[in-house]
Amino acid sequence: MTENRFLQNLKVHLGRLRHTLGYRLTLWYGLAFVLGMAILFFFSYLLLTSSIQQSDQEKILLQLDVYRAEYEKSHSVTDLIRLLNREQEERQNLFLIRFADPVNRTIFARVPPQWRRVPVTLLENYPPRTEPEWLTVSAGEDQLEIASVRLSDFCVLQVGAGTAGRLNTLATFRRVFWLTTIPMFAFAMLGGFFVASRALRPLRELVEAVRTIITTGKTDKRVPVSPVEDEIGELVLDFNQMLDRIDGLLKGMRDSLDNVAHDLRTPMTRLRGMAEMALQSNNPTDHREALADALEESEHMLSMLRTLMDISEAETGTMKLSVQPLNLAELVAEIAELYQFVAEEKSIAITTEIPEGLMAAADRNRLRQVLANLLDNAVKYTPEGGKVTLSAHNQGDSTIITLRDSGIGIAPEEIPRIWERLYRSDASRSERGLGLGLSLVKAVVKAHQGDISVTSEPGKGSTFVVSLPLK
Ligand code: ADP
Repeated sequence: MTENRFLQNLKVHLGRLRHTLGYRLTLWYGLAFVLGMAILFFFSYLLLTSSIQQSDQEKILLQLDVYRAEYEKSHSVTDLIRLLNREQEERQNLFLIRFADPVNRTIFARVPPQWRRVPVTLLENYPPRTEPEWLTVSAGEDQLEIASVRLSDFCVLQVGAGTAGRLNTLATFRRVFWLTTIPMFAFAMLGGFFVASRALRPLRELVEAVRTIITTGKTDKRVPVSPVEDEIGELVLDFNQMLDRIDGLLKGMRDSLDNVAHDLRTPMTRLRGMAEMALQSNNPTDHREALADALEESEHMLSMLRTLMDISEAETGTMKLSVQPLNLAELVAEIAELYQFVAEEKSIAITTEIPEGLMAAADRNRLRQVLANLLDNAVKYTPEGGKVTLSAHNQGDSTIITLRDSGIGIAPEEIPRIWERLYRSDASRSERGLGLGLSLVKAVVKAHQGDISVTSEPGKGSTFVVSLPLK
């Protein structure tokens, strides 16, 4: 029973292993190893075979030359036989020798005992045509390699030797090769698997982290960063950065949702109060007043919701922009004209310093909204008798629009926060506003692939710089 379960567990683990990258990497690595070894074996075997064969044949040819020289000295077969007999006494009878007349009939042959069964007469059927000619004759388990030459009197001389020695050497080579390759292969596979699973550990941790995030929805988990800066390390870093960003975005969304809820609660409560008061009164004038107030309040809420939707459209890239070349000097003059009245009331001088005919590329209505919001803030946050300057110029591939005021300025710690949705500084509470103007400005400028920045000194004034690409 337990054994059965063990086998089942093993099966499950092996099945899972088969789907891992480490397993596949090892398998490919193993295949490459086997292929490499096979190629190595094939070529070295070929080289070894041909070099031993060459050396064997050289030995035969050398012997053939000795006998030929002996015979050519006197053209006497007896002298040759004498030499052979001498050799035999010295036990150098390794070679098969056959001497035949010009029509290849055997005159004499010496066959060493191990090849006794070779029918020498068979060789009479193959008179040599080339010099030296090689014949291969089977001799039981051995194979004989025979070189034949014609002597100056057209007699035939043949010398041969067995290939058993060579085949033995090759068999030993094969054996040694397999005996070393198989353990090496096993070692390489194990090493490969170990290295692959070590290298893929951060990836597994990444998968774990993703799973935890998916199942628990918690984005605060981070993958441990390995000290090695490889591709997986980079992936882990990028992944953690992505989580940081998602975390930030989620927090931003939560915060703005909280803010919106909070900011809508006040006008909604006011609306309810108005309706309650109106219901308690029987005076038609009170009813009319309450309705007018409710209308104003709902207008205020609608404007806030519209702006919020515009911001999220611009931020997510779904805002429809019809970017066209436009005369910036004209547009700015139009907007400045619009605020002239409010400015004059506060004795604020609005100056525009824009070269005539200066062109920019933007969506006309959206850019008007951006500049109007900035100018509105400048006039709003500049005390009586102040100064607001609007200037612009083209620089390289961008149009730079600068709006400088001599207003109350922004505290350095507040500068990063003024772009947030619904953020209003304490200093600005006395002024009308939703705290959405700059968020919209920034989102629209970004949707134009542009940028916006601010420098400010509390009590002295602020300078907003918008840059828009010309193309
Ligand atoms: P608001 O409706 O409050 O003007 P904005 O998003 O336009 O909202 O601005 C956010 C905050 O940035 C303001 O509440 C104000 O504190 C600050 N601010 C914006 N423009 C200026 C300016 N020109 N001078 C000083 N403070 C400014």
